Amino acid sequence: MMISEVYHVAQGLTDLLFPPRCLACENTPGGDTPFCHECASRITFIGDALCPSCGIPYGTAGGDRHLCGDCIIAPPPFSLARALGVYESILMSAIHRFKYGGKTAVGNALGDSMASREYDSLHVAGYDLIIPVPLHPSKLRRRGFNQALILARRIAKKYRIPLDFTTLRRTKPTPAQVKLSGDDRRKNIRGAFAVETKRAVEGRRVLLIDDVYTTGSTVKECARVLMRARASEVAVLTLART
Ligand SMILES: [Zn+2]
Ligand SMILES: [Zn+2]
Repeated sequence: MMISEVYHVAQGLTDLLFPPRCLACENTPGGDTPFCHECASRITFIGDALCPSCGIPYGTAGGDRHLCGDCIIAPPPFSLARALGVYESILMSAIHRFKYGGKTAVGNALGDSMASREYDSLHVAGYDLIIPVPLHPSKLRRRGFNQALILARRIAKKYRIPLDFTTLRRTKPTPAQVKLSGDDRRKNIRGAFAVETKRAVEGRRVLLIDDVYTTGSTVKECARVLMRARASEVAVLTLART
């Protein structure tokens, strides 16, 4: 028997003994997402009715592709931002299990979903470098893993793009953004990141990965320092956005 056959038999046996579960409920997944049909139907995947710059979804499909108010007032430092789905119900509970419940297997499956999706105007294969939004070392110690790195690793693996999780560093332990308003988030995050070695990003097209895009203040600050280190482009891909 070939090694690949042994692997398939072993995998088949594992699936039989421990059938994979939907990431949100206990049912068996179907189709090509790690969710069961019922749960998958409750996820709002983001289509092409969005702001071409920051990717905020518009309610109606097929509307004209105009910039949103925020991007007109303050053009973001990234070229574009896209997300897999809206941060609500099923996707939100899966992210919570991953991030706060420490279920890294859920994170791997979510990363695979991000990697296999096609995005409006964002062609993952065209990037030179994948960089996850870093956590401050003190937070990393508390959580035990960086959720953005787990997602980024799956995308980098699928597209065979180098993954760099050391060049961009979080130098300031910032309080959680969750309870802050947009303006306070921006002030809170200013100067929180640094590029360790400029040479690593200079002239490169960088794809920045994070779990959730809320006001975008975190990814904007990361994009700003990467562009200042002379990256040729920074695009953003997140799992979900509010
Ligand atoms: Zn389910
Ligand atoms: Zn926008």
